[in-house]
Amino acid sequence: MIQLYIPLNFLGVIYREIKQSLTDLDRLFALIDREREVADAPGAVPLVLSGPPTVRFEHVRFGYDPERVVLFDVDFEIPAGRTVAVVGPSGSGKSTLARLLYRFYDVQGGAIRIDGCDIRQVTQASLRQAIGIVPQDTVLFNDTIAYNIAYGRPGASQAEVEAAARAAHIHDFIVSLPRGYETIVGERGLKLSGGEKQRVAIARTLLKNPPILIFDEATSALDSANERAIQAELAATARGKTTLVIAHRLSTVVDAHEILVMQRGRIVERGDHASLLRQGGHYAHMWALQQSGGAVKNESNEAPIDT
Ligand code: ATP
Repeated sequence: MIQLYIPLNFLGVIYREIKQSLTDLDRLFALIDREREVADAPGAVPLVLSGPPTVRFEHVRFGYDPERVVLFDVDFEIPAGRTVAVVGPSGSGKSTLARLLYRFYDVQGGAIRIDGCDIRQVTQASLRQAIGIVPQDTVLFNDTIAYNIAYGRPGASQAEVEAAARAAHIHDFIVSLPRGYETIVGERGLKLSGGEKQRVAIARTLLKNPPILIFDEATSALDSANERAIQAELAATARGKTTLVIAHRLSTVVDAHEILVMQRGRIVERGDHASLLRQGGHYAHMWALQQSGGAVKNESNEAPIDT
């Protein structure tokens, strides 16, 4: 009994960590089904998409604890194949949007629809198959780097793994290692840097090739050359996909179809980069700070909201 209890308990801890960091370890979910807070509706149908879909957050309200609402009436649409970026101070609710889209939790008001279909009416397996996440901090398995990339699409051939690694600009690094693609990484193997881990996550996602993408930009600073390179790789990965970017740096969002500025669970400004600059509000203030070399990140934007 004890032996059974400890691993399940341990998996529960891991699951909570994963949910928080948006890691896409679908296989782990199968093991710990009992830990799920959401379940397939009776009669849930598979989500069938013929291309990148429209994703709509319709007057979404949500609190991890129903007593404490963290998203109030959040309403926006990501048109098919376009990118919407979310910026705002730490704790404003950005990552929660991504957790709800992946259906780690159910909304408490409103709905999230993919091509008009409420995500509570589709099977979780098909929903998660349609979404690729590049998380802030990628969890690597104690296994070979090839396995860690192929995890995006079990059964992928070595040639496919290498093609994804090339596109994510991590192939050259891998072949420079003495054991190449057979190098063991993870806690008990070679430790990868933050940028290298994000590239593994990009390669995984490229291999999975889902129609919907979520990028949760790393909060930890990468050096600026690495940051620019990762941004270029993310932009290339997002091309033609319906993409939600949780941005911690404004440089990432300039080309987004729409930028949402969140504060304390509400969208307080929205528009593209140029129109937000013209509005001269929170976004313009954050941008000016960043341009002047101030440590803008999002944390510095603690201006009161006018509601
Ligand atoms: P950051 O930029 O720091 O990642 P964020 O804007 O993504 O922040 P969220 O992670 O969405 O913020 O958090 C929104 C609010 O929900 C915060 O007040 C946070 O404390 C709370 N919160 C986040 N995760 C949980 C959780 N698992 N249980 C309870 N409250 C949570």
